[in-house]
Amino acid sequence: MHFNNKGVRNRPRTGLRMRIVARLWRISEAAFAEVDAFAWVQGWQITRTWHTHTYRDRRFDALISCRACAATGRSPTDRPCEECRGTGRVNLMEPPITRRPEQPSGGRP
Ligand SMILES: [Zn+2]
Repeated sequence: MHFNNKGVRNRPRTGLRMRIVARLWRISEAAFAEVDAFAWVQGWQITRTWHTHTYRDRRFDALISCRACAATGRSPTDRPCEECRGTGRVNLMEPPITRRPEQPSGGRP
């Protein structure tokens, strides 16, 4: 048994393991610091482990499959779907096409 000068039992293996894990986390944080900062500024979701960092733009949560064309992007007449403009997906953050305001004409009346 190993005891320190206060009579408390040491656990050398646990201490070594924790020091290795802490060092790996510090190395990981340093390696991903610039990318993490960029992701934070962009408002992306960051999922971290000691060896991987995963980034996800939360705006993807607003994308859903187009119900009008079953995500094919084509209408029954084989033309581009009017609801999704042929993309097969609809962005919930954008207003529907039918209610969108007119595009500006460049300043001319
Ligand atoms: Zn569609």
